[in-house]
Amino acid sequence: MSFPEHLIIGGEKVKPASGATFQSINPADESVVCEVPEAGVAEVNQAVDSAREAFDDGRWSDLAPAKRARVLRKLAGLVRTNNAELARLETLEVGKTDFDAAKIEIPTVANILDYYAGYTDKLCGETLPSEAGVLRMTLRQPVGVVGAITPWNFPLLLATWKFAPALAMGNTLVHKPAKVSSLSALRFGELALEAGVPAGVLNIVPGAGGVVGDAIVGHQSVDKISFTGSTAVGIGIQKKAADTLKRVTLELGGKSPNIIFEDADLKAAVRGAMTGIFYNKGEVCAAGSRLLVQRSIYKEVCAAVAEQAAKFVPSAPVPGDPRSARMGPLASKSQYNSVLELIQIGKDEGANCLTGGGAHDNGTGKGFYVQPTVFADVQNSMRIAQEEIFGPVLCIIPFDTEDEAIAIANDCAYGLAAAVWTRDVGRAMRVVRKVQAGTVWVNAYNLYDPSLPFGGFKASGYGRDLGSAALGSYTETKSVWMNLS
Ligand code: NAD
Repeated sequence: MSFPEHLIIGGEKVKPASGATFQSINPADESVVCEVPEAGVAEVNQAVDSAREAFDDGRWSDLAPAKRARVLRKLAGLVRTNNAELARLETLEVGKTDFDAAKIEIPTVANILDYYAGYTDKLCGETLPSEAGVLRMTLRQPVGVVGAITPWNFPLLLATWKFAPALAMGNTLVHKPAKVSSLSALRFGELALEAGVPAGVLNIVPGAGGVVGDAIVGHQSVDKISFTGSTAVGIGIQKKAADTLKRVTLELGGKSPNIIFEDADLKAAVRGAMTGIFYNKGEVCAAGSRLLVQRSIYKEVCAAVAEQAAKFVPSAPVPGDPRSARMGPLASKSQYNSVLELIQIGKDEGANCLTGGGAHDNGTGKGFYVQPTVFADVQNSMRIAQEEIFGPVLCIIPFDTEDEAIAIANDCAYGLAAAVWTRDVGRAMRVVRKVQAGTVWVNAYNLYDPSLPFGGFKASGYGRDLGSAALGSYTETKSVWMNLS
């Protein structure tokens, strides 16, 4: 299999001037997948200049909206026909199971492109009531050059959350994927050119966050930063972007409460707890990492959760084989070390480890595998209940009343997602209204749709990806006053 060897800048496949590369490591066996071209500040400057020129000369934003839609739909089609290759890249780079990559993530990328293609000619300004001799109206125009900086847990999906609405509205982009997940982004950039996205409209520059990301955020000619990643990096980006008064959207971390009441369908709720925390090895910003369980069913739920969790034995995903692994390795050595450290902290804090609790050895001594881990009797003040672990580690916390459940749910810096399991519609809606989170599922977990906005309250960031809500952050409203006399 061949791997992308070039950055995408100004519609060309280019090598970094420095000749720099970094190694992509397969987290399943620690082998080297390939050398990846590494951008530096020089390539960022080139990419921003290309994006600026492509925006200013209107080669994309001045197209008839229906033409932009056709290109986005063609790109969606190319993503579908290249599904196996894109999925394979994600499996090799970040240990995603073939099922998650080929059946869920990549098809969703195509669906999101189609969804936003439909918006190119539907976001309208207004014609406002005006007196004789005057016409007042508003126009919705693209913001300009967007710097998209994204993480590694859903590499192409989270990038598309930004590409699709930004392109639909006529913006141009410079994208920096996370270093460990650059290959699918580079391949996507090639497909975008093939689909007819004009030169300079989508530039892809992998590299280090503190170098390439930092240079994008500081660049005078970038109008907006759309960031998904950790809260700590997001805070730094917001501060730096203030110097040039860029528009900023931040999708950050989470520590989401998944609340089970005693009247819930317990079988479904336990299944939801499993997908809530073990889907994509817990490397999910919205992971249901705090399981709040009403005390009358606490013991029963703890036992069922521990029994089910032990079945998620991590193993190596085989590209092209959807049944090869139910849960893969963590994406990188640093993520593996950080998750193991927090598991140890949980033990030291006195939480009751019901199952898992360490690294998983698959017999080869290689790979970043972590056992599915369940802690019971967790106090919400413990570090493992407050800090984002971003791995397959669940904290179970008991509660007595609805008010107490809401108080525990909200007693956390983050506010990304939450879920409530109950058969009582009134209770479900009371909790939905009171929980501080950008998404709340009722009797479900980890379900997403292109039409449903996604984003955070509190330290989980601000602004929304997806849905019509995302369009506002990729457009400026221009007010027009015309004297007609
Ligand atoms: P990260 O913050 O370390 O990195 C995210 C991106 O920022 C990467 O591309 C990285 O290279 C870049 N970066 C790092 N330092 C930078 C700097 N100084 N300037 C500019 N860019 C910089 O996050 P990660 O480890 O890649 O991803 C995991 C985090 O992302 C978790 O906290 C997770 O919750 C969050 N996340 C949030 C959402 C959401 O929608 N809210 C979705 C997925 C992941």
